Amino acid sequence: SVHVIWFRRDLRLNDHSALAEALKEMDKDDQLLFVFHIHPALTDEFTVRHDYFYETLHSFVENAEEKKLPIHFLTGEMEKGFDQLLTSVEKIEAIYFHEDETAFGQKRDQTFEKWAKQKGLKTVKVIDHHLHGSKSIVKDDGTPYKVFSPYYKKWRAEEKPMIHDYDCQQLKKQMLVNVTELKEGKRAYSQLMQQKTGRWKKFAGEASAYEQLESFIENDLATYHVNRDLPEKDATSQLSKYLRTGSLSIRSVYHAALAKADELEQTEGVETFIQELAWRDFYNMIYANYPNSKNEEIQSNYRDINWRKDHDQLKAWKKGVTGFPLVDAAMRQLNETGWMHNRLRMVVASFLTKHLLIDWREGEKYFSEQLIDYDAASNIGGWQWASSTGTDAVPYFRIFNPTRQSERFDKHGRFIRQFVEELQDVPSKFIHSPEKMTTEQKQMYNCSRYPDPIVDHKKARERALETFKNQ
Ligand code: FAD
Repeated sequence: SVHVIWFRRDLRLNDHSALAEALKEMDKDDQLLFVFHIHPALTDEFTVRHDYFYETLHSFVENAEEKKLPIHFLTGEMEKGFDQLLTSVEKIEAIYFHEDETAFGQKRDQTFEKWAKQKGLKTVKVIDHHLHGSKSIVKDDGTPYKVFSPYYKKWRAEEKPMIHDYDCQQLKKQMLVNVTELKEGKRAYSQLMQQKTGRWKKFAGEASAYEQLESFIENDLATYHVNRDLPEKDATSQLSKYLRTGSLSIRSVYHAALAKADELEQTEGVETFIQELAWRDFYNMIYANYPNSKNEEIQSNYRDINWRKDHDQLKAWKKGVTGFPLVDAAMRQLNETGWMHNRLRMVVASFLTKHLLIDWREGEKYFSEQLIDYDAASNIGGWQWASSTGTDAVPYFRIFNPTRQSERFDKHGRFIRQFVEELQDVPSKFIHSPEKMTTEQKQMYNCSRYPDPIVDHKKARERALETFKNQ
């Protein structure tokens, strides 16, 4: 009989829980079949995020094919896609996949399971994307946590899943090769591949992910707690895009970090890093419990905020021309690289929602288009944190001062100069507040083109305080 592995946001061959599960269940004569369903939602728009995902898919398919492990494509509405599979392949015993706890994922899994039941097919759904799924770390009374610290305490004490140990080189022996070609799926895949720009080739796929993991563990993990807040250092793991697409399993990241701790005398870097992995699980848990939180504030008293509809200021924020150098450098980093440093995500999200008083959903949406690591749970979590509307969010009265953040986390303005070309020649004395220069000074330092601040910090702060206080 045939055991089907349905790949989704887990585009790798190593340490794949669904595949490991199938291998455990299979007899010697059973066969494996790999499928990827091109869901209509994957093609409804084409953003930077899509471009990166397609590139990852391409890398995955090529790598698998090289190892003689062909991926078969299904297309159209899900049930129709899988109907095609049943027509082409006989004796399917079970379909294995990873549970997706996001709002979209939950619905998809339910629909699929219903369809499979009607067809008399066995489905095997496994937790894989997180060290702990949304239901496994709960309060003693069984209810979900809302605050991170007690969640983390329990999370940290809980045993973590191990890396699955199987040999990818051996898989080809069990691969079903004689499949009537799924032509429609193949065509849909080719069409997707024609759309990708090639911009992300260097940063996509399993090999690139492992290289990045090794380099981070070797060079930056030990000092992660010291450098992680300094954008110019480039000292964080940059693994988020691989975790999002599943080029890398979360278990391989966790266990590589732990193994490094054994070598180190001082393990604060490792501890801080592991805590960040817990934030990822935490926000996944929150999103699973608040599936409407992409559209709706989690804290109900903030659902009627009168957000400003200022198209020009929103545009200035997106383009990185607000006149606040750190905000602008951050937005340009996003636009140029598809990634933004965590400290800066907090700064720009706070700036949009508090200083400009523009709806956090606008920011969430823009990030969803531009980030190659876009992850709904973490992004919504981050935005609702910054706009003070989520669980365990920053209190509304603690408003980041973007100039002060700049002085603290980019003291010499090196990061700013890296991304804001107009401020290249500006001396450190003025780099955080270039508006303080005289017209002559601006001319002297070639930065007359750089805009003045689009809002006054003090007034904007007061406006936000007033708005939130009255909710
Ligand atoms: P590292 O510092 O090396 O951290 C290691 C891993 O831990 C990350 O790869 C990530 O998987 C996880 N992690 C770290 N910080 C967080 C966090 N605060 N919340 C959840 N997981 C975390 N992360 C995304 O992966 N996708 C998003 O779409 C996303 N949107 C965000 C939006 C806002 C407004 C904010 C404030 C944060 C957002 N984050 C998001 C979280 C965080 O900024 C990124 O995970 C991190 O910057 C990725 O870089 P890194 O891999 O070098 O992180």
